[in-house]
Amino acid sequence: MSKVKIVLAEKAGFCFGVRRAINTATNAVRQSHNDSVCSLGPLIHNPQVIQRLEAEGLATISSLDEINKGALLIPSHGAAPTIVTEAKEKHLEVIDATCPFVLKAQRIAADMAGQGYSVVILGDRGHPEVEAVLACAGNEALTVKNAADCLQLACNRKYALLAQTTQRLSILQEIAAALTARAPETRVFNTICEATEVRQHHAGMLATECDLMIIIGGFNSANTNRLVDICQEKTKTLHVETAEGIARKDIEGAACIGVSAGASTPDWIINDVLQKIEKLAGEQ
Ligand code: SF4
Repeated sequence: MSKVKIVLAEKAGFCFGVRRAINTATNAVRQSHNDSVCSLGPLIHNPQVIQRLEAEGLATISSLDEINKGALLIPSHGAAPTIVTEAKEKHLEVIDATCPFVLKAQRIAADMAGQGYSVVILGDRGHPEVEAVLACAGNEALTVKNAADCLQLACNRKYALLAQTTQRLSILQEIAAALTARAPETRVFNTICEATEVRQHHAGMLATECDLMIIIGGFNSANTNRLVDICQEKTKTLHVETAEGIARKDIEGAACIGVSAGASTPDWIINDVLQKIEKLAGEQ
């Protein structure tokens, strides 16, 4: 029997918003009577889950130009309000799988912009969630990545600061302090979702106890990449999408291996990875 300790983080894998988006998509496909159901961009950021959904009949498109009838599914990351308007003008059925926590950030952004605040979003420019929030946040909205970015901002404006749901609280707090020191008024909204925070907390704790962390999730998944960042600061960390990503040399010498997974990683992939680690550890 292997002497290697393998520990799965207390909270890992699917969150409420991802589960909800998958159920919405599955029901939409089942009820579509052979009409097309198209997700605008990947429904969630996990390629293996998307492959399964596509096998069931969900299509993924990158632009509204690719669809003229059927249903448009708004992914868990949300979409700009203009997309929904345009889809309705094309007489598409719009099925909204946007996570409620993302919708909340969109509402705050729109509300603050309406009240004359310049909206500042801690987030990754180009990520669909951030782009959708920016689209709600008025002309002056912008993104920052760290407190140093705030030095570029005008110091005579009032700011509303919010965060992509997958960001780290410590960085939001640093930016909040920098903006508060710089501007006459700063309102801070912690829009980081609890599922993200909880997964980050448990992965970070586990990383302090293990000499190797294996993080499972889409390479395109922001919340998974954040888990990798956090664990890398504490111990050796490997990011894989599936069990195939792990080889014996990766776990050689590790006495305690911690495992965590992003919020869009399904149980079947987590179980595959755990079995592979156990098998490789048993061969050592
Ligand atoms: S990580 Fe949070 S914001 Fe993103 S889908 Fe899950 S519950 Fe929603």
